[in-house]
Amino acid sequence: MSTPPPLKCIACRVNPVAWTKPRVDFCYACLPGGPFTPPPCRGCGSTDAYFSQGRCERCHPGAPLYMGSCRGCLAWGIYRRHSWLCWTCRWWRGHYPVGTCAYCDRTTYINGAGACRLCWENARRFQQPGRGVNLEDTNRHGQQLFLANLQYDTTGTYRRRLARERHERGRRPAEAPLTVTGWRQLMLFRMPPGHGAVKRRALTQDSPLLRHCLPVLSEHAERHGWSKRQTNAVAHTLKLLDVLQDFPGTRIRASDVLASTRYGATVVSTLEILAEVELLEDDRVLAVERYFDTHITGLPSGMTEQLRLWFDTMLHGSDKTPRRRARHVETIHMHILGMAPLWQTWAAQGHTSFAEISTDDVIRALPVKGTNR
Ligand SMILES: [Zn+2]
Ligand SMILES: [Zn+2]
Ligand SMILES: [Zn+2]
Ligand SMILES: [Zn+2]
Repeated sequence: MSTPPPLKCIACRVNPVAWTKPRVDFCYACLPGGPFTPPPCRGCGSTDAYFSQGRCERCHPGAPLYMGSCRGCLAWGIYRRHSWLCWTCRWWRGHYPVGTCAYCDRTTYINGAGACRLCWENARRFQQPGRGVNLEDTNRHGQQLFLANLQYDTTGTYRRRLARERHERGRRPAEAPLTVTGWRQLMLFRMPPGHGAVKRRALTQDSPLLRHCLPVLSEHAERHGWSKRQTNAVAHTLKLLDVLQDFPGTRIRASDVLASTRYGATVVSTLEILAEVELLEDDRVLAVERYFDTHITGLPSGMTEQLRLWFDTMLHGSDKTPRRRARHVETIHMHILGMAPLWQTWAAQGHTSFAEISTDDVIRALPVKGTNR
């Protein structure tokens, strides 16, 4: 690499001189008494493309077509005329500063992760789809050299293959749509899925559930101004749920969505989407339901039954007479808070049903004044 190119012939000023040692100032074509036929190359025996010093333009270290390694990534296969830089390293020079690589200690151009192109390319060879690169582990025992300019699509082959695949996909019959069933197959026994396997499958597998939800997801994301990150997180969660589902097509329990957070799921937004495509089975216990349950324990069964009817009407509303709109959970909470002591008092007095309670009983039990009345 360090051999400088030979001087030009003093006659034509185009070709390199025939020999540097012994010094000849002419090329073979311009030698006085010539033109002479140059000898075959001392390196490879080639009879055409003589360069200088008895060697052809591929064997002379000062020739533009002499082959060597890239200065940046040490990859083999760079011509001298390209300044010993592969195409990617050219780009690196324009975009990254000079520094010392944290993984191989070379002083060269290093990227934002503190790695030179060689270490970076080594880490990328072992990169799992959807994961970050692991520079530390992949460069611990040295680096694998590679051939230059083969790391990306120079000829467009890859791009053409992608286009062909896209075209083929378009011609393939459409994937079977997700059939939603109302029933649920019970499990004989449950085997906890492997954590890594679930995540891997969610990353790579095709998901009918996601395909089913995608139009609604895009529309919902657009309407609510979701960021790309949030939309992607929901798409990923849907794929996760698809993997975790025991039988495809069954409605998804809200508790299952909540449980999938251990795989990195996004809960609230996913619930919105599932509710919108009517695939959600909301089995979450509301705080007010728990509150109600604690306050009716110990009451006679007649009272409990009546209270439960009242509570359901308050929570979900009723379209039969007496009709009632569903109330806000806060309102129900306040009602229970006010009435629970009365229930307990009446139960203690030996009443078994609210039918036995007269208006006078109610008036007597109410506080004389104040917000509790
Ligand atoms: Zn000449
Ligand atoms: Zn040669
Ligand atoms: Zn390079
Ligand atoms: Zn390095």
